[in-house]
Amino acid sequence: MGTASASSWDVVIVGGGPAGLSAALNLARARRRVLVIDSNRPRNSATFHSHGFLSRDGISPLELRALGRAELERYPEASFARGAVSSIRPGFTVDYAGGTASADAVILATGLREVPPVLPSLRTFYGTSIHSCLECDGYEYADAPIALIGETDDMAERALLLSQWSRDLIVFTNSRGVVTAAEETTLDRRGIRVDRRAVADVTGDRTGVTGVVLADGETVPRVAVFIRPRYEAVLDYAAGLGLAQDGDGFLVVDGAGRASLPGVYAVGELTPPGPQQLIVAAGNGARVAASINRDLIES
Ligand SMILES: Cc1cc2nc3c(=O)[nH]c(=O)nc-3n(C[C@H](O)[C@H](O)[C@H](O)COP(=O)(O)OP(=O)(O)OC[C@H]3O[C@@H](n4cnc5c(N)ncnc54)[C@H](O)[C@@H]3O)c2cc1C
Repeated sequence: MGTASASSWDVVIVGGGPAGLSAALNLARARRRVLVIDSNRPRNSATFHSHGFLSRDGISPLELRALGRAELERYPEASFARGAVSSIRPGFTVDYAGGTASADAVILATGLREVPPVLPSLRTFYGTSIHSCLECDGYEYADAPIALIGETDDMAERALLLSQWSRDLIVFTNSRGVVTAAEETTLDRRGIRVDRRAVADVTGDRTGVTGVVLADGETVPRVAVFIRPRYEAVLDYAAGLGLAQDGDGFLVVDGAGRASLPGVYAVGELTPPGPQQLIVAAGNGARVAASINRDLIES
């Protein structure tokens, strides 16, 4: 691995999750000098097991990252710096806790922030028996009594998807989430109940969640809860670039990951949602790396 004390790079990557690390690996292999700057706040740090990454199904998030980092360290073209990026100036100059770096191109790979429904005991169970990703954790609750809690207008769609894993499913809208009468009929046909009462919390013990506690005092027994968070793209540090964002705050990019300012690219979950999974983010990183390599040859 190269030294992060150098200040001039072909590409600086902000964010060292699967998307950023995969982009870095492929750029280093294209003989691009690349610096990854990461603040070490993996989105999936709450969980012990990551599922669905081919050849690494069930691995801990930290181990997956460590393996990715170790592969990158074999390349003298690549460097890694720990710290939060505070700003990026056009041109590009990247300020981070630990220094300043300049680059011909930057990749934004800082992912999402989750805004979950308010549940006082959420943190106690999040990642073990409260989850947000159906594809990542649904399999472990096949046919089990589970709940979906959320306040968005896609609750019926999420519930239908979740019923692929278990039809013993109750949708809690917390008096706010939208499930229309027609949607409720569709859900009912699959045996899914909708409970529109206000949710106070979840309850549980050492085995995990045991129920959903309603504001009226009733506790509905459930062994796991899937929440539907709202998502915010993590982009505070890039405000100075004036990048175009869509109505949900995701960065607008073309098929090659190019953002609205030439030389700025985005990978992973900052871009409009596909399946929010590690292998999808890593694949996206590799794809955008190939585009940048071509763009840098032509520029
Ligand atoms: C609880 C939970 C469990 C999950 N389980 C699974 C699973 O089993 N399988 C699966 O496929 N997916 C799972 N996911 C989804 C998975 O975590 C994401 O798909 C994946 O992390 C997205 O990768 P990314 O590289 O886009 O972003 P991230 O992994 O979020 O990486 C972004 C990185 O950017 C860094 N960063 C942010 N701001 C700055 C800054 N200003 N300066 C420098 N660095 C910065 C962060 O520290 C972080 O390291 C889970 C998610 C959650 C929340």
